[in-house]
Amino acid sequence: MAAARDRVTDRCPGALVLHEAADGGLARIRLPGGLIAGGTLVALAELAESFGPRGAVELTSRGNLQLRGVPAGRHSELADRVAELGLLPSATHERVRNIVAAPFAGLVGTAGGAGDSALDGLVRALDLGLCADPDLAGLSGRFLFGLDDASGAVAALEADAWAVPLDAGRWWVGPAGVAVDGPDVVGELLAAARGFLRAAVDAAVSAAPAGHPIWRVRDLPDGGAGLAAELRAGRPEVARPEPPPGRRPVGVWRRPDGGHAAAALVPLGRLSRAGAEMLAAAGQGMDPAAVSLRVTPWRSVVVPRLADPASFVPAARRAGLDAEPQSLWALVTACAGRPGCASALADVRADAADAVAAGRLTPAFAARPLPPGARAHWSGCARRCGRPAGSYVDIVAGPDGYLVHAAGAEPKESSRW
Ligand code: SF4
Repeated sequence: MAAARDRVTDRCPGALVLHEAADGGLARIRLPGGLIAGGTLVALAELAESFGPRGAVELTSRGNLQLRGVPAGRHSELADRVAELGLLPSATHERVRNIVAAPFAGLVGTAGGAGDSALDGLVRALDLGLCADPDLAGLSGRFLFGLDDASGAVAALEADAWAVPLDAGRWWVGPAGVAVDGPDVVGELLAAARGFLRAAVDAAVSAAPAGHPIWRVRDLPDGGAGLAAELRAGRPEVARPEPPPGRRPVGVWRRPDGGHAAAALVPLGRLSRAGAEMLAAAGQGMDPAAVSLRVTPWRSVVVPRLADPASFVPAARRAGLDAEPQSLWALVTACAGRPGCASALADVRADAADAVAAGRLTPAFAARPLPPGARAHWSGCARRCGRPAGSYVDIVAGPDGYLVHAAGAEPKESSRW
């Protein structure tokens, strides 16, 4: 049952099928729940470093990792190394293991029945169930599973099949919109994915060949309403919980159990070997290789159990990370730009870095006051890849300089820069 992927070729890269970017091969490595051991992160950074000056590890907006600049003759070596590191448990399912989980679950006092170990366990059970079902290899690389905590931290990512904790061990599960007991969450999410595949096949059969590809639930002709009703199967519909947007702490804070956790921003998501080594060493435990880390969808890495709270912020700064709670890096994103993308009209990452170094989110010509908490996304062309969910200031390179405007609005300013 592969129609969801095949109807229009799904070009999402993986560790086995790379995207050919202007700066070399681009591999994407799925990290269900953003979970990775410190030693594994360091090993990937070492591998990227061995690719030469274009090699890099990047954090993605779904809490996965990308390796850039993979030389043409080293694709199979990359796949072998990723498998050795335990990050390729299924060759058939590697691109569909898209599971985002609340990265601060259990760490900021909002456990709500989904503390860190509980959510990690659900992530692993969902990943196992996903990889064990041959049909689910037919999902597109864009279909997203979401496991939230009571803070609603990942609600903005608009997963296709997702669960949010309620009270007393119950969970709300979408898109069905039903309440289930904790042990039923994984089965309910997998059933949603199977139901989506059936609905996608039906829609593909009845639609014109040039119709919109059906990669996600919202791509179904009715937006997924029929799928939700089918999945409810007569059970009462329960209103979706709408928690206020969850905190995304940066820096060091005290966990509800009295220990310390920390998070460091990775500027524009590009992680150096020094940064990976610092994060692995910051975790609590005798062996940095075994330290558990969480990659967030917001280009940061969480150290759930911190060894030395006082040293984290300065050590992060020395390693090219930023753990200052007010850092502008929490508010700025950018696409690949030059030289990584052949379509780019500017080196947006360098330009964004220059702006942040000058204390701004936008080009100098557009330095009007921004509302508190405003975010900015820099793009090398009008495709605006990687733009964040929610509102943000849109900075788009054109042939004559950058255009700066609010997302969804007409450009208000234009200038060479
Ligand atoms: S927005 Fe344009 S320049 Fe940036 S990555 Fe996408 S296609 Fe390339």
